[in-house]
Amino acid sequence: MEDARANMVWPDKVTICEVGLRDGLQNEKKLLSVEEKLELLDMVVESGIKIIEVGSFVHPKAVPQMADTEKVVQKMKRVKDVEYRALIPNLKGLERAHAVGLTKAKLTVSVSESHCLNNFNQTPLEMMAGFVPCVEYAAKHNINVSGALSSAWGCAFEGKIPVQQIDKIVREYLKLGITELSLSDATGMGNPQQVYEIGNYMVKTFPEVKWVLHFHNTRGMALANIVAGMLAGITTFDGAFAGLGGCPYVPGATGNIATEDVVHMLQEMGIETGVDLPKAIATAQRAKEIVGHDTASYVLKAGRCEDLTQQKVQRQNNE
Ligand code: ZN
Repeated sequence: MEDARANMVWPDKVTICEVGLRDGLQNEKKLLSVEEKLELLDMVVESGIKIIEVGSFVHPKAVPQMADTEKVVQKMKRVKDVEYRALIPNLKGLERAHAVGLTKAKLTVSVSESHCLNNFNQTPLEMMAGFVPCVEYAAKHNINVSGALSSAWGCAFEGKIPVQQIDKIVREYLKLGITELSLSDATGMGNPQQVYEIGNYMVKTFPEVKWVLHFHNTRGMALANIVAGMLAGITTFDGAFAGLGGCPYVPGATGNIATEDVVHMLQEMGIETGVDLPKAIATAQRAKEIVGHDTASYVLKAGRCEDLTQQKVQRQNNE
């Protein structure tokens, strides 16, 4: 009885998407070499992660760290059953992704009107009108497209975003035929109650959508938000190795939730991720060495719960 109840609450399996190579690195001052990126990518694949955001095709001057995404994609090993995707701002970006043979692209729009107007001088709906040629191009060239809704959990300009505002953008994505959508929290403003309520609303209102949640741990709420997301029935989450990343509006902010922290928590909860935790930790360790500064990962600092009990056994054996 107990077990049956537990299974109704928690998923058996969760999918982790690694965004370290894009979201994690894009705010790093030190520009990584293509070789360093490929080394990290190999380690991510080796750890068992099946969905990887390898970079973005934005203007090279806008994000210098992403200027070599073409080279990374050209040189990377393509392992069967691994989805390699890139963030695409517009048709030009999509053409660049296609030219190097990527078959998965993620479009993104902020659900906040003020954020969009301030950054791009366009409303969210005006920006999304620019997605129409992208979707047509993608269909013609067999590219899968997903969509991100940024500022979904809060905006530096508008504060909390009403669910109706998110709903409106979701419907626009669906009109474009895009049914894989991520709700993203670059400012780290989302809280677990909000994630549970909005998550529930989205899952029930749009059962055809494959939902992904993307949290930054800016104020320490990201793991709790993932728990709330699972309780709302969402089972796909983004993470970045070592917890790299930041937020342009929050100087010095903690980055994305660390992939290894998510995997560790889920493993402790008995939820399968298909990710080898020691290998995920090794990836984070290597990423930390490469960027050359301390990062916001709990298990990199404290180790796994399991390590503690193993140390205890060793201590006892030594006595
Ligand atoms: Zn992010």
